[in-house]
Amino acid sequence: MSAPAKRPPADVARRGAGAARSSAGAAPRRGVESVSYRIAPIDPHAHLFEVTLTIAQPDPQGQRVALPAWIPGSYRIREFARHVVSIDARGADTRALRLRKLDKHTWQAARCDGPLTLVYRVYAWDLSVRAAHLDATHGFFNGTSVFLRVLGQEHQPCEVWIEPPAGDACAGWRVATTLPGAGARRHGFGRYRAADYDELVDHPVEMGRFTLAGFEAGGVRHEVAITGRHDADTARLCRDLARVCAQQVRLFEPHTRRAPVERYLFLVMAVGDGYGGLEHRSSTALICARNDLPWRGQRETSDGYRSFLGLASHEYFHTWNVKRIKPAVFAHYDLQQENYTRLLWIFEGFTSYYDDLMLVRSGVIDHDAYLGLLAKTISGVMRGPGRRVQSVAESSFDAWIKYYRQDENSPNAIASYYAKGSLVALALDLTIRIRTGGKRSLDDAMRLMWRRYGRDFFARREGLAEDEFPRLLEEATGLRLDAQIRSWAYGTAELSLVPLLRAVGVEPGFGPGDQGPASLGAKLATREGQLTITTAYTGQAAQRAGLSAGDTLVAVDGLRIDERALKALLARRKPGDRLRVHAFRRDELFDCEIELDAPPATDAKLKLAPRPGARAARLLAGWLGGSRPARASRAP
Ligand code: ZN
Repeated sequence: MSAPAKRPPADVARRGAGAARSSAGAAPRRGVESVSYRIAPIDPHAHLFEVTLTIAQPDPQGQRVALPAWIPGSYRIREFARHVVSIDARGADTRALRLRKLDKHTWQAARCDGPLTLVYRVYAWDLSVRAAHLDATHGFFNGTSVFLRVLGQEHQPCEVWIEPPAGDACAGWRVATTLPGAGARRHGFGRYRAADYDELVDHPVEMGRFTLAGFEAGGVRHEVAITGRHDADTARLCRDLARVCAQQVRLFEPHTRRAPVERYLFLVMAVGDGYGGLEHRSSTALICARNDLPWRGQRETSDGYRSFLGLASHEYFHTWNVKRIKPAVFAHYDLQQENYTRLLWIFEGFTSYYDDLMLVRSGVIDHDAYLGLLAKTISGVMRGPGRRVQSVAESSFDAWIKYYRQDENSPNAIASYYAKGSLVALALDLTIRIRTGGKRSLDDAMRLMWRRYGRDFFARREGLAEDEFPRLLEEATGLRLDAQIRSWAYGTAELSLVPLLRAVGVEPGFGPGDQGPASLGAKLATREGQLTITTAYTGQAAQRAGLSAGDTLVAVDGLRIDERALKALLARRKPGDRLRVHAFRRDELFDCEIELDAPPATDAKLKLAPRPGARAARLLAGWLGGSRPARASRAP
């Protein structure tokens, strides 16, 4: 997930759209691989990459090439081919070849003996972790946005020449990627290679003048490359990330304590406002608000920094869970269309559970802070009536058309396989810990999946079958939890977290939050100066009165209304009171009477029990780690 954000305007000197120079001073030579790409930031001001694809042995019947419709990890059809602005084909004698478009993603070249060369330009102006972006300050791309797939030759090794931009304005640019170098120096332009197309598009590339820092964890080098203006304390960032990464490596490999990669790269894009990340096999692309990064001299852990660490932890956890342990249907992606699984509640939900859990177990945040984050997740899930309508298994399956394409009715219709999935993980984890006296946990299931599917994934390409998880959980823990999984993940039953949390020494409480004593049963926001309903919750006061998302409220009980006035008014009313509301739907004025609801008690508060029993204290220490003293020792 990633929020859109704006970059500061480019202020670098102008250059023409001239041809790119050869890479890193070395003369480019014909690739030894049969599929060879050359990518150049040909015109940063026009946001254009130029790619030259050479296919040594094209299909004699007419080679077909296609751009993916989606990028793994982000389950939405994006049709990256819509950003190809021009494309030409040449045969062996550099004569122009006819190129026919077959469908929205696919081209076919006229028959030729080879080599076949395609030269195309891709518009790159999407500042997200999912696509490509280029201006005079930096370039970023995912292979799915820029590298045409050579149909029938996806399993061939390929080489990529990454070219620097021409002109002095871009002097000093470097490259950050985990694509294996094949002549290019570390952080240099030049020749890289990939074992196949799947690997080629699984190493995003950043180029520009980024800040580079690094640390060791799990026996391997980790790097952080930060692009965008920032004043981050990179030493603190590396210290904290090293602890989180080491914690995750220990979870999966308690004996060897070895990371599953040769090296790892956090690509961080710091912007004014933004949040998102996308996982890859040995790197991740993150986008964050620059103020979320810790600054030099900052001592405390701000909410923003905690959320950044949670994001980094989430994407790093995917190195195991979804990049190597996968649903069987993801073992070989079909990049041209939706790939359906009911298991994203495991691959995204469990990852969302472990992301913050790894922060507390590594000691980067304390128990109280962790419980605060957990309470926020519980509150968020409880506020959405959609959890009673859709299971997280259904939500996983329909991610393509629902979770990833949300609208005003989504809170009423969708259960988040991220947030609710993480609570399913919590409920399973605590159940296992409680029933086995702390001898087993969800960690054992993660390790079993890792040993069975993850460790050798790239050699065997096998994944978790759609119905396999209950059996696997039993094998890992000795417990049959089929009924719980059926009801929590495949049904819409409430998760009954309260007794589970109490058994591990956490006191949960639920209140109405800061909504005041009475509720409209709607989410409101000020849009273009107008108090607008953004969601009318199913069956609640606003909807019963006939109000809808998009309606703008102008007056209540004869007085002009805005957000502040509404809050003050609701504070003076009680459930059952009636309000006369004047509102616009489009340009039509209407009025209605609302009978106020009691605000639902969805605001969770979690605190450590002041005097937990010995068993609860032991379970808590096993769950959250014993690095921080529990509040019990400080309580009166
Ligand atoms: Zn994720």
